[in-house]
Amino acid sequence: MNYVLKATNLSKDYKKFKALNNLTMSIPKGSIYGLVGKNGAGKTTLIRLICGLQSPTTGDLELYETNWNDSSISEKRKKLGGIVETPSIYLDMTAEDNLKQQYYILGMSSFEGIKELLILVGLDQSGTKKAKNFSLGMRQRLGIAVALCGNPEFLVLDEPINGLDPQGIIEIRELILKLTRERNITVLISSHVLDELARIATNYGFLDKGQIIKEMSAEELENSCRKCIHLKVTDTKILGNV
Ligand code: ATP
Repeated sequence: MNYVLKATNLSKDYKKFKALNNLTMSIPKGSIYGLVGKNGAGKTTLIRLICGLQSPTTGDLELYETNWNDSSISEKRKKLGGIVETPSIYLDMTAEDNLKQQYYILGMSSFEGIKELLILVGLDQSGTKKAKNFSLGMRQRLGIAVALCGNPEFLVLDEPINGLDPQGIIEIRELILKLTRERNITVLISSHVLDELARIATNYGFLDKGQIIKEMSAEELENSCRKCIHLKVTDTKILGNV
């Protein structure tokens, strides 16, 4: 199987505290990988390491088969876009200007693709409205559009559904599904609520106290949650009379 990311015995210490503790996981190409863990489990720490915002203390973290300390890792990171904690948007700018700004930052030579990105995230009608006047859902969608500048193949979203109303949650879900369908993007999405991910994730990693305690496919999760009663009987003949 093809993986976009593999972590092996990955640890991150903050002084004596182990935020990640020998964590091992792998994210298959084309999957929507739901990273589930309660508050403080280490989701944001892991995402920071994946995005290169912090370095691991020990262990391997391979992005597209390149370890985090390899000299060619910055090339591989160009395939990655993400939102860590809060969306990186300028509140005093319109949606379009935010995307133009990101194009400048990435050193892109033209504004080609901005209109399509605005349509993709449903902000093409937001016009001159500044991001500070957007709803939380609109800000999240703009954050995703910013993360998509430069056409990444791997999108990392840290709790993108947090604080959204039911309609906002549906919009983000549909957007993520559209991204995997139309752009074949692999998505890592973290949440502390399994139910929020259950409608879209194809794979899961359950994070607890800095360790992945279980990885499974959506199918395996469904089978393990299926309600059934297992009966052990001593005399099967009696069953014939029931
Ligand atoms: P939440 O869902 O609340 O955002 P999380 O799963 O994202 O939680 P992290 O933010 O990764 O968890 O934090 C994991 C642990 O590491 C927490 O106990 C946190 O207090 C600790 N931690 C995170 N960053 C630092 C830091 N810079 N210095 C010291 N401890 C830290």
